[in-house]
Amino acid sequence: MDTAPADTRAANTVLTLADIGFAPARALLARYGLELIEIADGAEIPGSYWGDSEAGVIAHRVYVRADTPVHSLLHEACHLIVVDPERRERIHTDASDSQAEEDATCYLQILLGDEFPSVGRARMMADMDAWGYTFRLGCARAWFERDAEDARAWLIQRHLLPHPAVHDRAIHPPCREAQRRGQQCAEREPEDVARQ
Ligand SMILES: [Zn+2]
Repeated sequence: MDTAPADTRAANTVLTLADIGFAPARALLARYGLELIEIADGAEIPGSYWGDSEAGVIAHRVYVRADTPVHSLLHEACHLIVVDPERRERIHTDASDSQAEEDATCYLQILLGDEFPSVGRARMMADMDAWGYTFRLGCARAWFERDAEDARAWLIQRHLLPHPAVHDRAIHPPCREAQRRGQQCAEREPEDVARQ
């Protein structure tokens, strides 16, 4: 099969910043009031909990290199997105505070995978599995689709579900349902997201 080598590569590696470029990542973070800081190849990444090529966090800044995995960038950025701004400014290296925040972070990270056309939520979940995130149901997709209601509710309550990716009326079940009843989707809060 002539596509085998590419498939094998995709299965063995995770996407990095070099694959998607710094500019789209910087633009996405800016929407949430976060700043992307590029670190030179081989230099130590400040605020990196896992070390090596993994993304670092200090207050509202996310530090990455070209070889930083996209899932790592999004995970750390999502930690900063889900905390309240006062605590965000005190964060250094370890952004995790509770299991609820961890779950909300993972859920948002998967959704924000859709913001990069060359990534998408399916690839994000595959990369999370490849890296070794652990979920109660075994893999990221099973968790995301069947066991993440708490995380989703947590994000909705704080108006943190992204717009428009998840609120695409064609694919978002609550939007479809609201449209059928001639109403606005209750989860549709673009103004709140824009203010983050
Ligand atoms: Zn985490």
